[in-house]
Amino acid sequence: MYVDDDDDQIPNSYSQRPITQAINPPPLDDPEVEEDINDVKPKILLFGLRRSGKTSIRKVVFHKMSANETIFLESTTKLEHEDVSKNCFIDYVIYDFPGQADALEDSAIDYSHIFDGKCALIFVIDVLEEYKEALDKIVNTLVGLDNKGMLENIEVFVFIHKVDGLSDDQRAEALKDINFRVNDELSEAGISINLKTQLTSVYDYSIFEALSIVGQKLIPELLSTFESLLNALKEPCGMDRVLLFDVATKCYIATDTESVPTNKYEMCCDMLDLVADVSNIYTTPESFSFYDSKSFSSVHLDNGTVILTKYICNNLTLVCLLQESCLTELGLIEYNIAKFSQGMDDVLKSHFKRRPVK
Ligand code: GDP
Repeated sequence: MYVDDDDDQIPNSYSQRPITQAINPPPLDDPEVEEDINDVKPKILLFGLRRSGKTSIRKVVFHKMSANETIFLESTTKLEHEDVSKNCFIDYVIYDFPGQADALEDSAIDYSHIFDGKCALIFVIDVLEEYKEALDKIVNTLVGLDNKGMLENIEVFVFIHKVDGLSDDQRAEALKDINFRVNDELSEAGISINLKTQLTSVYDYSIFEALSIVGQKLIPELLSTFESLLNALKEPCGMDRVLLFDVATKCYIATDTESVPTNKYEMCCDMLDLVADVSNIYTTPESFSFYDSKSFSSVHLDNGTVILTKYICNNLTLVCLLQESCLTELGLIEYNIAKFSQGMDDVLKSHFKRRPVK
């Protein structure tokens, strides 16, 4: 493995032609972060019964809490919200609704404000408990939103959570059962929505993968542009897969047009963890930064696959999976990553308006 830093003692096969030299880092890390201040931030709304795991999900993904520590968390007892801002994509307000309350019936809360703008509504079901009450709550909430005319622009997800406690067969059974029961009750109530169901746990990468998919629904207008940019990088370089990750959360912002199998996603996350761990050991507290404009690393696996990471900008890192034989064209890879980087810069500049530096 080669972690690109200032130390030219580190032996590596690319030291003559570091990829970073081919790239002018886009200026998105400067304080003038592109953002339209008039935009209402997208929201992620977490619903679910008490102890279903809502706070744990928030803390593990956005605050780097370890899964084991979540057992000490207090249950959500009142509506909480927090602004999560990692870069111009992972920039949400997360609402954590208390499980015991009858969602949408608290007269002290201005729901029209909460459901204004882009929203992803996530129902968290504790699959280790009897979940009839949770399913009733999903249906009642969606019916309530429909009656208020608020359902139209909302993306709805169900996280079948704590699946670490289930076998593969039990997971498949729970997925089938919950999908069937919720859709059945919704259609009886005359509601037709595209409910997206995910199996999740804070004890593996599934929760990060699930929130990646949620996040992508919140930036639909940019997603196809990113896909095109990633394909324009992938194809001429003969790469197998290319993903654009937010390094702070390990959520991926976009990938090339093919969907990502879970094992490939996990491999990419392991690589990000590896780079972070090595950086953690060899960087001083003052220079402490896992990824910066010079960060480039590669790992060669026994099966001939190479995993490359290259920092792009604004907490975003490319993770590329390719065959070792493709590295003979390293110049081409460097060139295309530079082009990708420039393309990202152009897209972000045109999408986000500059706000004055405070
Ligand atoms: P909330 O009331 O919905 O906010 O629930 P909490 O986040 O406080 O979680 C309740 C309990 O579920 C805690 O003891 C967590 O450790 C546990 N928990 C959360 N997520 C998972 C998970 O993915 N798997 C397992 N086994 N337990 C979890």
